[in-house]
Amino acid sequence: MSNNEHSNGPSRESTIIAEARRARELREQGYREQALKLFPPVCGRCGREFEGKKLKELTVHHKNHNHDDNPLDGSNWELLCLYCHDNEHQKDQLEGTKAPDADKNSLVTHQPFANLRDLLKEKK
Ligand SMILES: [Zn+2]
Ligand SMILES: [Zn+2]
Repeated sequence: MSNNEHSNGPSRESTIIAEARRARELREQGYREQALKLFPPVCGRCGREFEGKKLKELTVHHKNHNHDDNPLDGSNWELLCLYCHDNEHQKDQLEGTKAPDADKNSLVTHQPFANLRDLLKEKK
């Protein structure tokens, strides 16, 4: 029926990206819940408390900026409200091109998807 013979199924690349994104979202939910169990629902910067509906304004920040670094003891996590989280990342941008630890890590480990992860992380 189809006269569109030269489209060989779905684009492999976009499938991989969609899957990586979904995996990342699942993982984010996972470590967020874990972090909320470990820490009181308080922003680590402004000290505001979050509960009920407001809880979704509290986000998990990765201290070393590596979203793949999720030790279950929470040593790489910090709970920050959306505003403080934004500030935290803007501060890094203002500080310039100082390479964060995350970059060093991806140079050392040879992961085929390291670049993909870099592209996907912190896209706002
Ligand atoms: Zn805050
Ligand atoms: Zn962050």
